[in-house]
Amino acid sequence: MTHQLTYPQLAAFCQDHNYQRFELRTIMFDMDGVLFNSMPNHARAWHRAMAFYGLDLPEDEAYLHEGRTGFGTINIVTQRQLGRAADHTECDKIYQKKSEFFNEYPTAERMPGAYETVKAVKESGVTPIIVTGSGTVSLLERIEQNFPSLFHHEWMVAARDVKYGKPNPEPYLMGMQKAGQLKPYQTMVVENAPLGVEAGVAAGCFVIAVNTGPLPDSVLLDQGANLLFHSMTELSENIVGIIHEANSL
Ligand code: CA
Repeated sequence: MTHQLTYPQLAAFCQDHNYQRFELRTIMFDMDGVLFNSMPNHARAWHRAMAFYGLDLPEDEAYLHEGRTGFGTINIVTQRQLGRAADHTECDKIYQKKSEFFNEYPTAERMPGAYETVKAVKESGVTPIIVTGSGTVSLLERIEQNFPSLFHHEWMVAARDVKYGKPNPEPYLMGMQKAGQLKPYQTMVVENAPLGVEAGVAAGCFVIAVNTGPLPDSVLLDQGANLLFHSMTELSENIVGIIHEANSL
């Protein structure tokens, strides 16, 4: 390699996995906290619902559990505070209250820089797809309004498609499968949450972390994120360079 690499993490990833270079076909985007700025509402709703039932989950901590099932999150709090597992009835109550509070908030805005990033991916000849644990019925409509004609919806992975969810690699493996049995060197993952990064890494993928919340960068890097940016705007300024360098190693 004679020329200077701007993103040496790409070459390091290929070397670690014995790939010659990337042959990028898709980039898989997580949704909450990446494409939409919905995490502050989720964190606030979690905190309020727990408090309503006498439990304490600080808003900042809610970001650590992003992507976990409702049951999993509630269980962590009851174990810590009450020394016991959560039962299904209380989980249903707390989760329903969380949804009520969440639905009181205005719909989250598109994340600044997200449109520019996805558009640049598509214009580079790489297909952007969404891999999310979210499963609202109006999901497709909302994506189309905010990212018109950019995403390949047939290859989208949502809550209904998966059994385990993140941090299990299943959602990303399923995205790769839907997009045509892709290998890890034919795709990349864009994630904001520690459990999401863990899922992407476990799927064997190069993971770009975008730290759009209050957690320290180390939380995402410790899960194995290969590159880290602090906003989708910063990623939008780098994504074309990343794709070009990845494909021309
Ligand atoms: Ca997320």
